[in-house]
Amino acid sequence: MSEAGLKQKLGLDVFKPDKEAHIKINPGMEKDPRLKMAVRVCPAGLYRENSEGKVELTIDGCLECGTCRLVCGREVLDWRYPSGGTGVQFRFG
Ligand code: SF4
Repeated sequence: MSEAGLKQKLGLDVFKPDKEAHIKINPGMEKDPRLKMAVRVCPAGLYRENSEGKVELTIDGCLECGTCRLVCGREVLDWRYPSGGTGVQFRFG
């Protein structure tokens, strides 16, 4: 599937934000190589490496798949599911 086709499909989903982000990069871990792998494997493309080599996360659009949690582990990420009634609602269209 092309990137445009993927974005179109992901655009059908609805995201209701929680009070605070359900995934946080632990302080001081922004340059960890495991986070750089998350840039490559997050299916929603929410991790980006900035010009300083630090990885940033934009939580809006998270599919709650857990891939970044598996790749990075608890040392790098503070990961939990969003509170009930918030987070992603899948719309398969
Ligand atoms: S849980 Fe999945 S969609 Fe959400 S940030 Fe991690 S890899 Fe990306």
